[in-house]
Amino acid sequence: MRQMASEHRAPSRVLVIGSGIVGMSCAWSLQEHGVEVCVVDRRRPGAGASWQNAGLVSPAMCVPLPEPSILRYGVRAVLSPRSPVALVRSADPRLARFMAAMVRSCTTASWRRSMASYRVLNELAADAFAHQQAGGVELELHRGDVVACFAHAHESAGFLHEMESVVAAGQAVEVSLLTGDEVRSNEPHVSDEVELGVRVRGQQYLTPSRYVAALAQSVRERGGKIVEDTPISAVERRHGVVVARGPQGELEADAAVVAAGAWATDLLAGHGVRVPVYGGRGYSFTVAAPKSFASPLYFPVARVALTPQADRVRFAGIMEFGSPDASLQRARFGHMVQAIRHLLVDVDWSTMADQWMGPRPLSADGVPLVGATATPGVYAAGGHGMWGVTLGPLTGSLLARQITTGVTPPELRPLDPCR
Ligand SMILES: Cc1cc2nc3c(=O)[nH]c(=O)nc-3n(C[C@H](O)[C@H](O)[C@H](O)COP(=O)(O)OP(=O)(O)OC[C@H]3O[C@@H](n4cnc5c(N)ncnc54)[C@H](O)[C@@H]3O)c2cc1C
Repeated sequence: MRQMASEHRAPSRVLVIGSGIVGMSCAWSLQEHGVEVCVVDRRRPGAGASWQNAGLVSPAMCVPLPEPSILRYGVRAVLSPRSPVALVRSADPRLARFMAAMVRSCTTASWRRSMASYRVLNELAADAFAHQQAGGVELELHRGDVVACFAHAHESAGFLHEMESVVAAGQAVEVSLLTGDEVRSNEPHVSDEVELGVRVRGQQYLTPSRYVAALAQSVRERGGKIVEDTPISAVERRHGVVVARGPQGELEADAAVVAAGAWATDLLAGHGVRVPVYGGRGYSFTVAAPKSFASPLYFPVARVALTPQADRVRFAGIMEFGSPDASLQRARFGHMVQAIRHLLVDVDWSTMADQWMGPRPLSADGVPLVGATATPGVYAAGGHGMWGVTLGPLTGSLLARQITTGVTPPELRPLDPCR
């Protein structure tokens, strides 16, 4: 049975399993409440999806993934190996279970329900970044409108519908249409083949690897411990404490947060968490940008996002449903270039570097899993899918409040990991 607030005792020591953006944000926020934290990772900070993603902090575009058009993409993925949405063919029974559960959530009614939960989070997301900045995290957050680019005006229907649905959910989003020439006057790298742009105002972006490093530095400076190369195989409650099994023996704490990204399902299975989390593998690379890009661009048809990053730009895309540990498919980088090269000019693709794959932690119903599990002292923080950067700091802040006070913040109720 889950603990009532009245009998809650704030933990003094918390173990955080996973040092991605979500785990590190949880550790950082727990320190705000005076909690001693130890973060363990099977590899190192940022080793999962958090290292080289697109880095958009974009509440306007932060929506649940499962919706009816995913089913249409699913069929196309089977037919075309170059599709930006694909299945890694595998005999993994977890993939079948995940896909079956996700398909059940691909309805308009389910999307609207989930969007109502996202709206509340999206409205608070930017403040949580500001709070980390004010608290000493050396976070370089840039402001920049995201411009979605389309070769043909009719291709914008799906994206515009999504923006309209976000507005219908009650979220303030400022969107304007641009002709191709207007897009080019702002961003000369956009080619003549772009006919229409959709500008989404007031979003932000960052370089995720630098952000993870800044979080890790801040957690360490405030006395937190980060233990690398330590895969945790199980978490349990024993004699009033939480125990995590690692390769060098057991780690003990008053409470534990499982923030293991796309790997979380196995650790959470024994704690009443039934919604599966699986890998939505994405790819990214950078190219040199002698003339800098004005702000992020998004190519919805190719499902590729472009983010400026010092003297380079990063391209991120592809949604490959598959095991986070399956090997990277090199051909994907070529597929991404092929899909967008005609929409850009003055990009020297031969300078491609930093090729990377990371597994987005997708929850089958598209809603993150954040809060207490059925085991007292064991908490989940994950399943943010495409939007763990945008929602990471807020997740840490809300969960730390729940862990230390025993009261579930209203924003977390729909994210109950045991739903
Ligand atoms: C191509 C791409 C583009 C993206 N673009 C954006 C974007 O623009 N904006 C946005 O908001 N989001 C974006 N995302 C999503 C975002 O990257 C993720 O949602 C986010 O990084 C998830 O963070 P996390 O901390 O939950 O998981 P992860 O970063 O995956 O961290 C999990 C950590 O747990 C560790 N771990 C796993 N199992 C164990 C274990 N048993 N014991 C110990 N440690 C363990 C892993 O090593 C890893 O370090 C993108 C993702 C991808 C792939």
